[in-house]
Amino acid sequence: MDMIKEIRAPLEFNQHKVDRQSHIAIKDAGLCKKKCTLKPCTYICPSQVYTWQNHSLRIDYARCVECGACHAFCQENILLNYPRGGFGVEWRY
Ligand code: SF4
Ligand code: SF4
Repeated sequence: MDMIKEIRAPLEFNQHKVDRQSHIAIKDAGLCKKKCTLKPCTYICPSQVYTWQNHSLRIDYARCVECGACHAFCQENILLNYPRGGFGVEWRY
């Protein structure tokens, strides 16, 4: 038996209930465009919530696993809340 196929990816255990409204916002999109050359949010986030597309930042908030890493790197421009009660990630171990 192939042992690798028997091991489920850790995040596979989690459940998501996606809210209609985003719990993530950007204060100033112009700052992303004009002053943030490295755009760390696009590679810090472990769930690829942030992508740079067509000269602007796209936020796929439904992918968020609520780790807080993006806000730690960009406290200046990322407004990060928790999803409303009953929504978001449900950790299962
Ligand atoms: S959200 Fe923050 S880290 Fe991401 S591009 Fe904008 S200023 Fe840069
Ligand atoms: S809280 Fe974590 S998973 Fe959610 S957007 Fe920020 S870095 Fe990505």
